[in-house]
Amino acid sequence: MSGAQTFDTIVIGGGVFGMSSAFELARRGQRVAVIDRFGSGHEVTSSTGASRSIRVAYDHPFYVNLALEAIAGWHDLEARSGHKILHLTGQIDLGPAAKLAALADHVRAAGVEIAALDADGVRALFPEMHLLPHEGALYHAHAGTVLAEVGLMVLAQAAAEAGATILAPERVTALAPDGAGVRVDTGKRELRADRIVMAAGPWSGALLSRAGLDLPLAPAVAQVTFLDAPDLTERPGLAEWQAVGKDGADGGLYGHPVPGIGYKIAFDAGQAGWDSEVTSWSPDFVEERRLLDWFHARFPDVPAKVARTQRHPWTMTPDADFIVDEAGGDWGRRLILACGCSGHAFKFGPALGRLVADVAEGGAAPELLRRDRPGLLVQATATAPITR
Ligand SMILES: Cc1cc2nc3c(=O)[nH]c(=O)nc-3n(C[C@H](O)[C@H](O)[C@H](O)COP(=O)(O)OP(=O)(O)OC[C@H]3O[C@@H](n4cnc5c(N)ncnc54)[C@H](O)[C@@H]3O)c2cc1C
Repeated sequence: MSGAQTFDTIVIGGGVFGMSSAFELARRGQRVAVIDRFGSGHEVTSSTGASRSIRVAYDHPFYVNLALEAIAGWHDLEARSGHKILHLTGQIDLGPAAKLAALADHVRAAGVEIAALDADGVRALFPEMHLLPHEGALYHAHAGTVLAEVGLMVLAQAAAEAGATILAPERVTALAPDGAGVRVDTGKRELRADRIVMAAGPWSGALLSRAGLDLPLAPAVAQVTFLDAPDLTERPGLAEWQAVGKDGADGGLYGHPVPGIGYKIAFDAGQAGWDSEVTSWSPDFVEERRLLDWFHARFPDVPAKVARTQRHPWTMTPDADFIVDEAGGDWGRRLILACGCSGHAFKFGPALGRLVADVAEGGAAPELLRRDRPGLLVQATATAPITR
């Protein structure tokens, strides 16, 4: 059709998944457009906010290796932009013995050091943290904080410098196969390309459903609290895999230092009730109180003044693994899925783009992230805890 702009790839969504995909595809020589409804990093998106935890300690070798690749990729972006993106102070993992053993096994298998610590060992690294006498812990150094706002800005800049066209704020209203390629409408313009990358975060499920593809994606709203605690900005991050959860049941918690603010803490489970049209989320002060109660027990001598509590969404899959694969069916490889962040994708930033670009160029999707894996055969639950 006359007047349509043409590209090799149209990326729908300019969060961390979309921007890293756009950067990687553009630097491989593709003509790329990114279309983003709210603007990259807007406060109602998954990728908003100052910081994210980063760690290599995963109980699956795929994520251990992906995290190592991501750390190298973030360092490359730091070198080319001159901006600091990683604040690596290490991480302390607490939790059930079986979980800690699985984390340690997979980290060591990747050739990375992770140490078992008793209470004295923890005190040496994080003097403010209180451990029960019987509690064990792990520590690894390849972990800490991604300065997420800076990282996303640098990824967007890198994508633009590599030649990507960024259209934002602009909303995709329709997508369809079109001959050998695809057509995308935004109401303002029509674009054509060889393929689409669907990286619309929590909005992906509805867009895909309109394109004839139903995936078990469950958007949820999650909350984080930044503490004004300047003495903790050089302390390790933490993950407590089994603690009191946000609703009083068992659940995990995590935290990491945030330069210039203090320490960020959060429960690792979201809440149902995400609304695709909402323009801002108000904090849940009951949840904030529960989190502070946990903090007082774990860090009895640190005064916990709240600097900011923020809510925003993520998207659970039933097995907490992402989806990076071709759509198949009528779409084949003309639609590449890059969604289902399951509350733990930001850290992988540049490595996500590499995964997506490999699939877009004809490579096989990693087994764990395939759209036809058994783990996607059940419904996802918005309130599921992050188990990865
Ligand atoms: C509270 C919270 C804490 C988290 N903590 C961590 C952590 O510590 N470590 C970690 O690694 N990860 C963490 N995560 C997960 C991480 O933030 C997400 O995995 C990641 O940001 C997902 O990015 P995305 O690009 O998939 O989605 P998004 O960032 O939501 O991007 C999707 C984009 O699509 C756009 N869009 C939507 N609809 C349309 C449309 N119709 N047309 C065009 N554009 C559209 C939106 O504007 C948006 O910018 C956390 C997430 C949350 C919510």
